[in-house]
Amino acid sequence: MKETLFKRLDDLYPEMVEFRRDLHIHPELSHHEVETPGKVADFLKGLGLEVRTKVGGRGVVGTLKGKKPGRTIALRADFDALPIQDEKDVPYKSKVDGVMHACGHDIHTSGLLHVAKVLSENKEALSGTVIFIHQFAEEVIPGGAKFMIEDGCMDGVDAVFGAHVSSVDPLGTVGYREGPVMANGDTFEITISGKGGHAANPHLAVDPLTIGAQVMSSLQQIVSRQTDPLKSAVVTVASFNGGNSYNVIPDSAELKGTVRTFEPEVRDAVENSIQSIAEKTCEALGATADVKYTRGYPAVVNDPEETKRYARVASEIFGEENVKEIPPMMGMEDFAYYLKEAPGSFAWVGGAMPDEKDVYPHHHPKFDVHEESMLYIGRLFIATVLDYMDTPMHSN
Ligand code: MN
Repeated sequence: MKETLFKRLDDLYPEMVEFRRDLHIHPELSHHEVETPGKVADFLKGLGLEVRTKVGGRGVVGTLKGKKPGRTIALRADFDALPIQDEKDVPYKSKVDGVMHACGHDIHTSGLLHVAKVLSENKEALSGTVIFIHQFAEEVIPGGAKFMIEDGCMDGVDAVFGAHVSSVDPLGTVGYREGPVMANGDTFEITISGKGGHAANPHLAVDPLTIGAQVMSSLQQIVSRQTDPLKSAVVTVASFNGGNSYNVIPDSAELKGTVRTFEPEVRDAVENSIQSIAEKTCEALGATADVKYTRGYPAVVNDPEETKRYARVASEIFGEENVKEIPPMMGMEDFAYYLKEAPGSFAWVGGAMPDEKDVYPHHHPKFDVHEESMLYIGRLFIATVLDYMDTPMHSN
């Protein structure tokens, strides 16, 4: 059974590449996807699936009912692009100025659509239901996952799986991890209000820039001195703005940054420290701080049992030597929200370009991935669906 489906997926490879390249040429930014969800919906409708569009805004959900009854498994792919100028020299280079599929979401989308095609052609053999979740806006907070869930895309789902292509790991490899695998991602903005004045008379002003520098440097104490060294946290100030001349002390300055953590206690503690350091440092130096802390995506926490299944299935089809447990990453993913609704797992599938000189990290202007990674993601999804449907209900 599995082999027949894999063979069919292989036969569809030229179509998968064509669909992916079309998306790559015409990328759309998060929350601005119009044509992409249209193409996805048309494809799923063409398979005869029950299709819902505009789910939670711009999402598309396809439902495939197998011939026999059973549980419901959801597979998710995201379809948004990034505000990056495509600098690759390939025939399928982005035609949209300043917008590019630099994270492989085009690969995810075409891969999942063709999985839907293969499974729908074989629905007689399926026991249960497969939900295909095509998500908009993964790259920006708030991402599409939360809205799609609020609009019912996870209703009745018993398990959910996702896969992300990796441009830096070799084709054919899979990285998995039980428990927390990607971080809580939050942002903060600190506005420091002092008192502007002539740069030659600092004593008559309250300089928000020197105070901001103090705040920035004290924020470095949070991770180095206040957080348990065995627990992960990142506090990065990524922007520090204020003033625009040589001889004027400005009224205010602004710091912006991001916080990454895994444990909820660490997240709470870092948030409190940022607040208190900013406010008290400013107070001590005669300024005021306005701190805006925004909680972004929660940590991606993989279900241990379903992750074991995912890793076992991957080992069976790709070989044990190609399937490895990976350390947690400080990046974030709104797949986290699906995992709060149902047990499941999110894995990384290798897709490094064959030539080392073409290997670039995600979100790089020259980012690209091996298109055969679609076959690996596809096989992993198909084999996981079959394995899940073969597991007796009471065992889970
Ligand atoms: Mn991504």
